[in-house]
Amino acid sequence: MKINVNENFGKIKQNYLFSDIASKVKAFKEANPDASIIKMGIGDVTLPLPEPSVNAMIAAAKEMGVKETFRGYPPEYGYDFLREAISGHYKTLGTDVKASSIFVSDGAKSDLGNIVDILGDNEIIIPDPVYPVYVDSNTMSGRKITLVPGSRDNGFLPMPPEKKGNPAVIYICSPNNPTGAVYGFDGLKAWVDYALDTGSLIIFDAAYEAFITENVPHTIYQIKGADQCAIEVSSFSKFAGFTGTRCGWTVVPEGLESNGTKIAALWARRQATKFNGVSYPVQRAAEAALSPEGIKACMANIEYYRKNACMLAELLRSKDIFFTGGVNSPYIWLKCPNNMGGWEFFDMLLNKYGIVGTPGEGFGDAGSGYFRLTAFGSAEGTAEACQRLKDL
Ligand code: PLP
Repeated sequence: MKINVNENFGKIKQNYLFSDIASKVKAFKEANPDASIIKMGIGDVTLPLPEPSVNAMIAAAKEMGVKETFRGYPPEYGYDFLREAISGHYKTLGTDVKASSIFVSDGAKSDLGNIVDILGDNEIIIPDPVYPVYVDSNTMSGRKITLVPGSRDNGFLPMPPEKKGNPAVIYICSPNNPTGAVYGFDGLKAWVDYALDTGSLIIFDAAYEAFITENVPHTIYQIKGADQCAIEVSSFSKFAGFTGTRCGWTVVPEGLESNGTKIAALWARRQATKFNGVSYPVQRAAEAALSPEGIKACMANIEYYRKNACMLAELLRSKDIFFTGGVNSPYIWLKCPNNMGGWEFFDMLLNKYGIVGTPGEGFGDAGSGYFRLTAFGSAEGTAEACQRLKDL
């Protein structure tokens, strides 16, 4: 063929992180067939769906098999029952997010990757280290990215530039993947004020909001003025175990506009053209996750993961190893002991202790020398890992 392809794909860092991890684990297993390996690497949930969601999904599937209750294409922006339920969730957080500003999707990753469609050529500000989708999707569309590094000094919570810059698109992930660090009210307010001052847009990723235990913002709309400068993307994946069921949402407030163009109108147009909605049974399951019984069941699962995080945090404290996360997040982000690199530490954990984690290098240059452990495993596995690491 002689067509031109999108050459920006050549600029994306080849991320072999999880395949490199898998091949190292495979080689270790082959050399040590009897070794028991504890996996604390991938950020996927392990507990099953909450019962209210399962029941709702079954009931909805039955409706689909009956002529009178069968439904065809769902609305592109989500059924009203789910948009209302999500709006109700924001009310419990003391914020007023209208159902009409909520766009239901098949997950946060799609929305975070697709949002670039409606944005022109702006400077892009992205914290480092972070969930790689922001950098990759902007690189694919040829955007210029400025990374703001997290470090031990700023607790992996970078703050806005001191000098007022140009209007930019700013990504914020709080609680953060991979560091587990979470902005307090003052920190998030500083970003919102910066965005308002510079005419910037914030894209706020709240995928881990349900893990928050401290008095910190669950949603950016808890900050005054955010409805004038921020889009929020969120998900049922970590809250309700929907990683394989797929449902999320994006809030685009009515008041968001740039040079007279309503951002919500652009996103509505984009979704209507390129997205055909989430299946009815999945939306009913998501609605059920937000019912009182659903929330109870989801929070019980989160509590289970949280206890795992506490075990890991205690171990690291007892070893005097610097870490962030674990309190408002399923992730623990630790400084590799003895100034080891992330991969060096990975090899040592695997070979000496049979434990798999994720080297910080996979989340950006500022992640070098750090390591991510997840609390999404079993309680027994996590306890066993802590036992094995006693002599670390
Ligand atoms: N945002 C962050 C920060 C994540 O870590 C993940 C998944 O790990 C996602 C979004 C993706 O969520 P979803 O499963 O809804 O696509």
